[in-house]
Amino acid sequence: MELDELYQEVILDHAKRPRNRRELPQCTAVAHGDNPSCGDEITVFVNLGPDGRITETTFTGSGCAISQASASILTTQVIGKTRPEVEALIKTYHATLATDGESVDADGLGNLAAMGGVRKFPQRVKCATLASHALGNALAQVP
Ligand code: ZN
Repeated sequence: MELDELYQEVILDHAKRPRNRRELPQCTAVAHGDNPSCGDEITVFVNLGPDGRITETTFTGSGCAISQASASILTTQVIGKTRPEVEALIKTYHATLATDGESVDADGLGNLAAMGGVRKFPQRVKCATLASHALGNALAQVP
């Protein structure tokens, strides 16, 4: 197994130039997650519009390239989606990272599908799901 497989082009691009990496001072919900085994931490900020769709989502944090790139990619994939749509996307994303994730239909994941290779490195799956767990927790706080 080549570690390079982990760092595909999309992941490298987002790790080098993270999108939506800033605080969102006025937001509907915020959640923090950390992954002590790797030293990653992520805070996810979410704004929902009156129609229940995500209008803006951002993150701050530090850690390995996988954790930061997955947060960056995730924030670009969920804008305009409703909470159930995002919850479904997160569920699919996590399924693709399971050991049998190769058989999961990754349609609709967009660039997040690039993270699928992480399934070969089980100890890094927590890095790849840190932001998605935080986003799910943030959405769960919304009444
Ligand atoms: Zn990590």
